[in-house]
Amino acid sequence: MEVIGNPGVMQQTVKEYLQRGNSIGFVPTMGALHEGHLSLVRRCREENDISVVSIFVNPMQFGPSGDFSRYPRNVEEDMAELSKAGVDILFMPGIEDIYPEGFATYVNVDHLSDKLCGHFRPGHFRGVATVVTKLLNIARPARAYFGRKDFQQFLIIKQLVRDLNLDTETVICPTVREADGLAMSSRNQYLSPEERNAATVIYRTLCEAKKMVISEKITFGEIRSFMERTLAAEPLVDEVQYASAFDPGTLEDISSLNVTIDKYEKEAVLLAIAVRIGSTRLIDNEPVEITGIKGGN
Ligand code: AMP
Repeated sequence: MEVIGNPGVMQQTVKEYLQRGNSIGFVPTMGALHEGHLSLVRRCREENDISVVSIFVNPMQFGPSGDFSRYPRNVEEDMAELSKAGVDILFMPGIEDIYPEGFATYVNVDHLSDKLCGHFRPGHFRGVATVVTKLLNIARPARAYFGRKDFQQFLIIKQLVRDLNLDTETVICPTVREADGLAMSSRNQYLSPEERNAATVIYRTLCEAKKMVISEKITFGEIRSFMERTLAAEPLVDEVQYASAFDPGTLEDISSLNVTIDKYEKEAVLLAIAVRIGSTRLIDNEPVEITGIKGGN
């Protein structure tokens, strides 16, 4: 595995692969790698000649809370995992490589960035969109791989790729979970054993809400109340930031429509949750495909 830190060197290396007719697959990450990241890496390897992974903890997407400095960093182990997984190139730039002095250009995806997590993390998606645009321009991948766990992030990246005519296909991959359903996340390591146990309420709530949606008897308004109530009933959940049913295209909260699924026109619903447990913010989501459900019960 070749390890490159300098964007110019990376661009030159990529250029040579492209000239030889190789397709490039790309997985951007912030490191502290787990099985969720590695599932993207495996898919990337299967579908491309050359697989590139980046590790960059992007200061621009963190708020002022100190989350950036405490974000887990595990470079030695990450490198060993990626090398074992057969990755061709690890791109690991420094902050000054990505944001040299005088840096002044930002990418902002309107509308989608203000929804869900956008309310609670001002500027977060501007930071994500800016760094991903830069990384895609540097790595020039035919395909880039993202996890469904960060569904809003995926939608925003898909939108910027379309709006800025970037020549990359964005691929969404399933959320990888622990045995008890908790979505894998680098942030899970912040949780105490009690908090880790309490965090299982997130996926449990999504699964129960999904069953209710499918039953066709309950309105999205009632689904939202159920989700909020269930999460709030867990004593270690300190804050429910959102828990509702959303339009998976626009991320509008559809709970106010107060209809049951059989009266809902679209093809899918997104159930999504963000909670704070102690000082750790956790998110998860579950899609409900409507086609094939309606009238089936
Ligand atoms: P991060 O390192 O958190 O920026 O994540 C890098 C990529 O891995 C993003 O596309 C995430 O959506 C994806 N990812 C993180 N956790 C998971 C998971 N549990 N399952 C699948 N993909 C994930």
